Amino acid sequence: MTTSLFDAIRGHGEIVGRLRQLLAMGRPGHAWLFHGPEGVGKRQVAMALAQSLLCPAPLVDRNGGMAGCGNCPSCRKCARAMHPDLQILSVLEKKTRIAVEQVRDLIRFMAFTPLEGAWKVAIVDDAALMNEASANAMLKTLEEPPSGSMLILITSQPGGLLPTIRSRCRQERFTPLDNATIQAILEQVAPAIPASERREAVRLAGGSVGEALRLSGQGSMAARREFLDALEGLPALGLWEVLEVSAHWSHADRFDLVGPLLETWFAERIRVIMRQDEERRPEVEALLEAASQVARLLRELAIFNLNPRLTLEAILIRLARMQGAAF
Ligand SMILES: [Zn+2]
Repeated sequence: MTTSLFDAIRGHGEIVGRLRQLLAMGRPGHAWLFHGPEGVGKRQVAMALAQSLLCPAPLVDRNGGMAGCGNCPSCRKCARAMHPDLQILSVLEKKTRIAVEQVRDLIRFMAFTPLEGAWKVAIVDDAALMNEASANAMLKTLEEPPSGSMLILITSQPGGLLPTIRSRCRQERFTPLDNATIQAILEQVAPAIPASERREAVRLAGGSVGEALRLSGQGSMAARREFLDALEGLPALGLWEVLEVSAHWSHADRFDLVGPLLETWFAERIRVIMRQDEERRPEVEALLEAASQVARLLRELAIFNLNPRLTLEAILIRLARMQGAAF
């Protein structure tokens, strides 16, 4: 006996409750925009909504909300993302944007009569990656949605969507999950990860299950801790030692960790300062500026194929000086 995809979702109780109520009232809507941080479960909620809409015999819970039964062939196909009336659109491999041909295919799919049930559901993940032509094609469908069709747009960057697209969708804003929820999800989906690594990953993940899994999945928590400790210790080092740290961390085995960890380090420092003291606003400004400069250096490194060691030297020297190093 399997259960509805809605029942497997942790966190986002209010959003799930609202959607289930709308389903029960027979007013699920035609266009949704789910936005919020990466890796918190937007897509799972979209899939649960699709499953419930496509299920021929949905169940009503004791709060009067509705959800797919989870057990029928339709629900099972949805859970495997293999239902003929469900289509999920995302950026094709090796591409950076959703192409207009993909959107046109999706629009054609939505215009057809459903093959099995009463609805067609299309999920676009990540909707902010539609190029201009794709977005304009999508807009036409949103202006006149085919009857019995639902479009769910998902993104962490709602600002990257045309305002006219945003305004035609009902919106749900997803927030980061709390650490206890992420901890529980990790225990369930990745029980093999040692508890101490799991705790550390949750702490660094900023409310994102996706990030926690990424952090813990690589079995490199010790390396992460080591790099974050190195960043904290920078001001006490001499220039020569900073160069040694750069050489160590620019090694091909380790360098992949550097970008995300620098981001984590900046975010954490800013969070700590903001919590402690409003007066330290200038310090936050300086950190934000340094963070954007570091991000730019790393982008240039990738684009122009530069030497990781020299880039990391520049970054670490800057961070050391920012924290009061004498060189
Ligand atoms: Zn069902």
